[in-house]
Formats: sequence, structure tokens, C-alpha cells
Amino acid sequence: MAEASCARLPRRSAVGGLTITRSVVETLAGLVAINSVNASLEGGPGEAELANHVADLARAAGADVEMYDVEPGRPNLLAWIRRGNRPTLMFECHLDTVGLDPMPDALNPRIANGRLYGRGSADPKGCMAAMLHVLHAAANDPDFPVDLCLAGAVGEEIVMIGSRVMAERRPPVDAAVVGEPTELQIITSQKGAVRWRVRTHGVAAHSAMPEQGHNAIQDMARALPALARGIEPHLSARPHPVLGNATWNVGTIRGGAGVNVVPDLCEIEIDRRLVPGDTATEVLEHVDAALDDLRASNPKLRVDRDSPFVDIPPLETPHDAAVVRAAQRAVAAAGLSPDPLGVAYATDAAMLSGIGGIPSVVLGPGNIAQAHTNDEWIEIAQLEQAVGVYLGVCEAFGEIAA
Ligand SMILES: [Zn+2]
Repeated sequence: MAEASCARLPRRSAVGGLTITRSVVETLAGLVAINSVNASLEGGPGEAELANHVADLARAAGADVEMYDVEPGRPNLLAWIRRGNRPTLMFECHLDTVGLDPMPDALNPRIANGRLYGRGSADPKGCMAAMLHVLHAAANDPDFPVDLCLAGAVGEEIVMIGSRVMAERRPPVDAAVVGEPTELQIITSQKGAVRWRVRTHGVAAHSAMPEQGHNAIQDMARALPALARGIEPHLSARPHPVLGNATWNVGTIRGGAGVNVVPDLCEIEIDRRLVPGDTATEVLEHVDAALDDLRASNPKLRVDRDSPFVDIPPLETPHDAAVVRAAQRAVAAAGLSPDPLGVAYATDAAMLSGIGGIPSVVLGPGNIAQAHTNDEWIEIAQLEQAVGVYLGVCEAFGEIAA
């Protein structure tokens, strides 16, 4: 499509009316034009305006909309089309995006070369636009094969707080399709992650008289091999055929006020990726045992660890689950590969499945390679194809899960 067709896209002021009678491209342009940068990121207004926009579109389509704040001013939303006597399928998509910088015109959707450019076009608003059109189809067909829940979650890009709360509330659905840019490939397994801080505590002193202090950085140098002993032997305990082994990384270290001061504090942050079967509880039990051994052999060494600040379970949805078989049938019918894949990154599916017990797959238009870049776009043909694939999942799930 040529640059000249930009003029066809609705600007925000023209999005009024709020009905899904537009093309999915126009619906997506309306979503991209709303800034929903994660509120934890610098300058991020959060998800409220986008949530209200999606809620208005869903209500106009005839859905019952439920919203609740996960944090003040940060609402999750669930839009229901329910008739009963049929399986219930959730289509879930996060509402937040990464920051706008340094993408030029990030909120001004632009069409060129068969692509729609803009922040969130691939991650994840293309998925949300396609899901809104599925909701509209469900609302207008009394014989629609499933009851439908369109869910929007806040906060995916940082610690998945929205999908965690959504999962804890156990929405009454039989399965979930989580929208992320997978190029319409089916993801059934993901690594999880647990992240925590470890601190060593010393006593400050002038470096001319180090015997009057106790060096926290040198103690951290003793703690690191102990941590490795508590972590590394378990990384290959559950090799996954697709995801491989678990991993760990010490990503940050802080400590010391100056070269002439004995440091009284040193802090590191650890990221431990989980493969299916791993749990954060088990990982931290091994870590604590290793730190106990360290304290026992170094009585003056003071080390502690915090509770995790990130805890995302791994995902492993069995290939014979109804939602996997339904997704396979739908993508195969569209001429795409039905082979389920695994990825090292995490999505809201981890929370819905691991905490909510909802069998989940990740499936959506767009490519993760464009997500989070300053050149984010989605291929329009794939966006349009996604509507048909999602409708195909509904049809197949209605049959398989009935
Ligand atoms: Zn995403």
C-alpha cells in the first residue's frame, strides 16, 4: 500500500462512533494512536485510556464489560459474549507497550509497503485489533461456536502484574489464546523467570585502616561461587526438548562509596530462567542451602537474599489440549505450519496457565523481531489473516471442547 493511503487512517479525533464496522487495519490504527506505554516506564501514562477505548468498542459490539483496577488507574478488562451451552474461550492481550523513544511518530500510525507502522502495532495491538473483530463476529452470530471473553491485561512488559491478578481471580473460561506477535505460529512452551537480590553487609572504614572495617564487596566475591554451587548443578536437571536447559545470570552489581572507603554493602541481582517443571520455590531452597553453607564456613560473613521481585512460571501446555488442537486445525486451514513451538521469552500465558490453571497457547500476527524496536510494524496481510485464524480457533474449539 502506498504512503498516500495514510489519509484513510482515522486520527484519534475521528475514532469516535466507536463501532467495529471499520476494517481491522483502521481498528488497529485507532489502538496505536492511543499512548499506552507501561506506567512503570519513564513518561508512561499507563493503560487506562486504551482500556476504556477497548471497553467502549466491546460494549458497542454488545459485550458485557467488567473492569477492575490492578493498581490505581490501571484497569484490567474482560468483555464477555455469553449465551451458555458451549465452551468458553478467552482471547487475552496485554494493553501496555514499551516506551515510545526512539521511534519517530510512534503514535501516528502510518501505512507503507503493505505494513502499518507505529508503537505497539506488532506488540501487541495487532492481536487486540484482530480479537476485537472476533468479538464483533461472536456478538452478531447467535450460533457462534464458543462463548467468548476478550481480556486486556495491564503491565505485561514489566512484571506481568495484570495477568497475574487476572489469573488469581480465576475467570470462568475453558482455555485461552494469548495474543503476542508469533507470526501466527503456535507457542505451547516458554521459559519462566525468577529474579531476586542478594546482599552482603560489611562495616565501613577508611581504606588506610581496613582492619577497622569489614569489606562487603570481598564477601560478595565469596558469595558468588557459593551461589553458583547452589544454582548450576540444577540447571540441567530437566532438559526440555525445545527450550533446552535452565540458565542463570548475575545482571547487576552495586557497592562501594569510593576507592578509599571499605564498602559496607554490596548487592547483586540474579535472573534464573525456569524450564517446565522448575519452580521458584525449589530454586530458592537450593540457593538458601548454599548460603547457609557459606555462613557456616565464614562466621563473620553477613549475607541475605530478598524475596523475588519477578516470579513468572514456565509454560508447558500439552499438545493434546483442546486449545492446542483447535489452534493447530485453524492455522493448518490457513496454510500455515501447525507445529507447536517453544520460546525463551515469557508472556501472559505463563500466568494464565501457571497460576490460573487455564490451558493456554500464544498465537498472533506480527513478528517479535519488530517488537520493542524503533521500527515497529505489522504486515497488513498477516493482520487480516489473523482474524480468520482466530475465528477458525473458535470454530475448532467449539467442536473439540464440546
Ligand atoms: Zn507483548
